[in-house]
Amino acid sequence: MKSSTNDIVKYNKHIEKKQLTDMPNNLMCPCGGGQSCIVDRRWLGDWVHEDDIFKNYGISLRKNCYSNYNEEQKKLLGLM
Ligand SMILES: [Zn+2]
Repeated sequence: MKSSTNDIVKYNKHIEKKQLTDMPNNLMCPCGGGQSCIVDRRWLGDWVHEDDIFKNYGISLRKNCYSNYNEEQKKLLGLM
């Protein structure tokens, strides 16, 4: 019984969410980060709307919030 409790503790530790403070400086987004920052959200494992769309269509993702959308990406997001 005791050992199974320990296993649960280990498991919980393993799935603990990443913290933004763990992010190396060179990975940080030039926008400064925030709730809607795609870099922050990817780091935290949060759902990113545009990534979801781009992945569905098999096209490349934006590197960060300041990257420009290419024509393909704009079209998919209805920005054209
Ligand atoms: Zn950003």
